[in-house]
Amino acid sequence: MCWCGTNIAKMVDVEDVAKEMSKLKHVVLAKDYKYMCSDPGQDMIIQDIKEHNLNRIVVSACSPRMHELTFRKALENAGLNPYMFEMVNIREQVSWVHSSRSEATKKAKALIAGAINRVYWHSSLDKRSVEIDPTTLVIGGGIAGLSASLKIANAGINVFLIEKETVLGGMLKNIDLSFPHFQGANELIKKIVNRVANHPNIKAFTSSQIKEIFGYVGNFEAQILSKDKEELIKFGSVIVATGLKTFDPTPLTNYGYGKLKNVITSLEFEKMLSQGNVLTSDGSEPNHIAFIHCVGSRNQDYHPYCSRVCCNTALKQAKQAKMAIPSAQVYNLYADMRSIGKDNEEFYANSFNRDHMFLMFDQQKALPLIKSASPKDNCNLIIEIDELLSGESLEVPADMVVLMVAMEAQHNAKEIAHATGISMCGNDFYIERHPKLDPFATTTAGVFLAGTCQSPKDIPDSVTQANAAAARILAAIKKGSAEVEVTTAEVNEELCCGCQTCVKVCPYTAIHFDPDKKVSVVNQILCKGCGTCGSSCPTGAIKCHHYTDQQILSQIEGLMQMSYELEEDLL
Ligand SMILES: Cc1cc2nc3c(=O)[nH]c(=O)nc-3n(C[C@H](O)[C@H](O)[C@H](O)COP(=O)(O)OP(=O)(O)OC[C@H]3O[C@@H](n4cnc5c(N)ncnc54)[C@H](O)[C@@H]3O)c2cc1C
Ligand code: SF4
Ligand code: SF4
Ligand code: SF4
Repeated sequence: MCWCGTNIAKMVDVEDVAKEMSKLKHVVLAKDYKYMCSDPGQDMIIQDIKEHNLNRIVVSACSPRMHELTFRKALENAGLNPYMFEMVNIREQVSWVHSSRSEATKKAKALIAGAINRVYWHSSLDKRSVEIDPTTLVIGGGIAGLSASLKIANAGINVFLIEKETVLGGMLKNIDLSFPHFQGANELIKKIVNRVANHPNIKAFTSSQIKEIFGYVGNFEAQILSKDKEELIKFGSVIVATGLKTFDPTPLTNYGYGKLKNVITSLEFEKMLSQGNVLTSDGSEPNHIAFIHCVGSRNQDYHPYCSRVCCNTALKQAKQAKMAIPSAQVYNLYADMRSIGKDNEEFYANSFNRDHMFLMFDQQKALPLIKSASPKDNCNLIIEIDELLSGESLEVPADMVVLMVAMEAQHNAKEIAHATGISMCGNDFYIERHPKLDPFATTTAGVFLAGTCQSPKDIPDSVTQANAAAARILAAIKKGSAEVEVTTAEVNEELCCGCQTCVKVCPYTAIHFDPDKKVSVVNQILCKGCGTCGSSCPTGAIKCHHYTDQQILSQIEGLMQMSYELEEDLL
């Protein structure tokens, strides 16, 4: 029983739970500890397994998504099969969601009693591994995809790189200088594109898209659709690096984008900077330029998240505006300043001067309002803002307003998710296998993420993730094989009536029908153990390893029994 510091212990009486659990049938030992996932916590489990000859372990702590692998590894280190383990989530599902300590403690006891009943029926599952075809597929030719391709190709491995646009380079093709050191982003990407285009181990397909990917880790194949032809390619691993796009601010009527001249997006301003022409719609130099932050980000009606790079981009563009037109007055209208990343806070601090004004607004209360100016105003636009720090309503003159638009997922993110078998979060960014311990792998073995398709990021973070994904693939290639899922489904041929319901429902096309035997067969490598077939089979012919009826029913029984006893006590 883990305390998770005060995270669990403040709402669950962990010591009392441990005492109660020690009385249950089959329990040899019940212990509580401050941080079970720490090295001393894991060592304690290993020590106890050896000392008391334990053959089943239950850990009640955080979500299995966080630390199931950690504890399974600890079992392995103690010489026990890692599947002789069950994890109970008493943090996210108990302490974090309840406000009564006694009720939360009761719920924790019931959940753990269920797990103890369940683990009794666990059996050892053996690891399975498959050979890896070293050729790697990279989808997306932005800085992330290009960096990953080069890392892999430089190690002597062949890479297929697929880019949907006519040229490689991604978003950085449109970016002039990069924050905070004002290096040329455009020049940087040109150099990298050149290296990729001339690399003997990289075959780049532009104006191309990938249709469905078939196969499994180490042995995939897919059809590439180019303008005039289709080609079948085979590869062992995939890196998804499809990036993101900028938000269209038209629906935010306060800003009049698309209606008012000289209201433009950060990307459009970036193109002006690249061309060396910061000019208003009538071709004159703007005297007042305003940058409005959080356009479509941190806004419940559009995107609730922070887009991460736009505060720094605004500071960068404001400085570039001043460099282009030294007499111009520059305003940053911001909700919160988030200049995160190495050297960026210092960059923000250096932005303060007389010609660079910072005005704060309350994103939840009132967004700034942009209007056409009247002839007497001597500017193109007027921005009304309730300035938070002074408490005053101000009118800011502007000849040009730059909207720091949100970064959002590609419109066809779902298609790539479907083709590669990876999952998306509520904002349509791809989900990593583990947010802390495995932030570039996915839940589909052999498929990795790089760059902004996972979440908004700047260039250094995108490149770091790309190189990490590439290193992971190179390590697997060096090993020559990869482990695959063992909690798979299996058909009992005696019970199968050949209805093929399972073939239709399997989301991973892992089941085929054997016409000679007239039964369905599960491909153990393709199966992800999702359980869909098991719950659809009308005859109960499908057994899902590690999720057998007996395991689940005994878990429910343990949970109900403990809940009942605790209620009785109360009476
Ligand atoms: C206005 C603006 C200014 C910025 N300024 C800076 C800065 O100064 N410094 C900084 O560090 N960061 C900056 N950034 C962020 C920077 O652009 C990103 O960090 C970087 O581009 C991420 O690279 P990426 O490879 O992940 O994605 P992208 O650059 O978006 O590349 C993705 C590629 O994948 C391709 N693709 C998409 N879908 C498919 C598909 N289905 N099949 C094949 N190909 C596909 C796309 O066409 C694209 O070429 C800025 C961003 C914006 C919008
Ligand atoms: S980085 Fe800045 S401008 Fe962008 S969403 Fe976050 S707080 Fe808003
Ligand atoms: S659903 Fe069950 S009975 Fe029907 S084919 Fe599949 S395994 Fe056999
Ligand atoms: S458990 Fe899921 S992935 Fe495996 S065969 Fe059944 S439906 Fe397909």
